[in-house]
Amino acid sequence: MTAQEIYKSKVFKQCVEFHGHICPGLSMGYRAAVTGMDYLKERNRSVDEELVAITETDACGADAIQVITGCTFGKGNFIYKDYGKTAFTFFSRKTGNGVRLALKMNALNLSDNHLKLINRIVSDTATDEERKEFQELHFQRSMDILEKPIDELFSINDVSIPIPEKARIERSQACKHCNEPVMPSKMNKNQICRSCQECS
Ligand SMILES: [Zn+2]
Ligand SMILES: [Zn+2]
Repeated sequence: MTAQEIYKSKVFKQCVEFHGHICPGLSMGYRAAVTGMDYLKERNRSVDEELVAITETDACGADAIQVITGCTFGKGNFIYKDYGKTAFTFFSRKTGNGVRLALKMNALNLSDNHLKLINRIVSDTATDEERKEFQELHFQRSMDILEKPIDELFSINDVSIPIPEKARIERSQACKHCNEPVMPSKMNKNQICRSCQECS
């Protein structure tokens, strides 16, 4: 598909709607998720927990992963590892197959000008003209990523790690300190919840 075709597709629009804007990170997440699903021969979003996605970043791309795979925090099949890498792993519980896509070094080489503009925006010192220039560059970059050959963006490898456990349902118990209901497996042996442990 060309970048324009993806941009106009229903599923990409859903990603943009969920995330709030189009950006290079969202495009990368989109490419990773679509490629991962193809690799696992999964056609449909996960309605239950048959797919598992692991994200190693909490940046923009993670939102596209949730929309496309249907793996979500609430279902317990979207797992966050705070590694600071644009890397995503997808598993099928049905087949036991897994694949990890990790962004290649220099795959996203932003120009010095683009970086300068990003810094001006973040520090709130950009002029209206610079904002406009930034928007155009950012959009162009997002479109470039939609079209780049996938192996220029990511290294792709089979993975086999123990499949994460399915979400557990436990009957809550009261924390001995705050009295709020808590999953017993998340409390310490004195039945004190983690937020109370952090405060004491
Ligand atoms: Zn974004
Ligand atoms: Zn507590």
